[in-house]
Amino acid sequence: MSRMDIPQKLRGVLPTTQRVEVANVLLRRPQHMSADQIIERLKHSGSKVSKATVYNTLKLFSDQGLVREINVSASRRYFDSKTHPHHHFYHVETGELTDIPTESIGRMNLPRLPKGTEQDGVEVLIRIRNKQA
Ligand SMILES: [Zn+2]
Repeated sequence: MSRMDIPQKLRGVLPTTQRVEVANVLLRRPQHMSADQIIERLKHSGSKVSKATVYNTLKLFSDQGLVREINVSASRRYFDSKTHPHHHFYHVETGELTDIPTESIGRMNLPRLPKGTEQDGVEVLIRIRNKQA
């Protein structure tokens, strides 16, 4: 995707300079990034976007369905530029997230849903670590 396509990708979101800068980092290809990684990348490229603006922008992107949030723990959250349903491996030692295509999980034996509810989605996060020698 070229830089020109980014404002189109923002759909209903007003493309302010800061939002386009954040989108240029996160939305340019399928990837998972933490807010800190995005802030680091922006700083590296000479951007003056503040931390608070990055956090607010990520929340806005998430609310608008432009990115998916993946909470791997209470203190670690990633933003996924791929918004269609899919699953993840999460390497607890490296912090790396890897996509698992939906079809490779197959049908799951899910419990009956609580009365009066319907399924909104199923996301599988498989925690992995290196084998102990
Ligand atoms: Zn993903």
